[in-house]
Amino acid sequence: MSEQLIYSGKAKDVFSTDNDSELLMVYKDQATAFNGERKEHIPGKGQLNCKISSYIFDYLIKNGIKTHLVKNLSDHEQLVLKTELIPVEVVLRNKIAGSFAKKFALEEGKNLPEPIIEFYYKSDALDDPFINDNQITSLEIATEDELNYIKDQTRKINQLLIKLFAQDSLDLVDFKLEFGRVNGEIILIDEFSPDNCRLWDHNTHTSLDKDVFRKNQADLVETYQKVLNRLEGAK
Ligand code: UDP
Repeated sequence: MSEQLIYSGKAKDVFSTDNDSELLMVYKDQATAFNGERKEHIPGKGQLNCKISSYIFDYLIKNGIKTHLVKNLSDHEQLVLKTELIPVEVVLRNKIAGSFAKKFALEEGKNLPEPIIEFYYKSDALDDPFINDNQITSLEIATEDELNYIKDQTRKINQLLIKLFAQDSLDLVDFKLEFGRVNGEIILIDEFSPDNCRLWDHNTHTSLDKDVFRKNQADLVETYQKVLNRLEGAK
């Protein structure tokens, strides 16, 4: 394969492949927080994220969600469809936590009356600013129909994942998704791992996600391994 690095992100590198419609996604042993201000080499993290994300994407695919995942090539590499990235991060919140709690000076943990969807414009230079529906359509980042479809898919994914994690006594607090366009369709891209969601133990309310790294609460690899074990135990 003639692989060329075409993008190097905080948690993954993306390479071209011989097939023009597919890319190679390589998960890195690197953790970052606070928009890359804190960066650490963490052996084993890439493998865990790849395994957890593969598990989640396979489950979503089985339940009718279209994604970029073609197949796993190794324990830290995936073959994915090449898409045109829609540069918005789609955040869905079931409970009050993180930046939402901080922004409105609220205590973390309360269920929201219904899930909230927020958008952030993907730009490291601008620190991923909040962007609303009108701004997205005016700037022609996505059409109104596309945005409605993205919101609909995000709510469906939420319902599917709440159910999946509940089997493992995990509460899905919030998460971030990304979408891309391919062949006139919008599909789920990127990854779904404890790097981009909040998972709380249903009984003890302890975090099993990247907050353990952000807040120096526990070992990241041990924590992510617990999530994978719980998922695989529920097979
Ligand atoms: N998130 C993410 N990437 C980002 C920002 C947030 O994956 O650049 C995820 C984060 O892990 C959490 C959810 O989106 O599950 C909501 O994050 P929040 O806005 O609360 O920001 P944070 O407190 O993580 O900075």
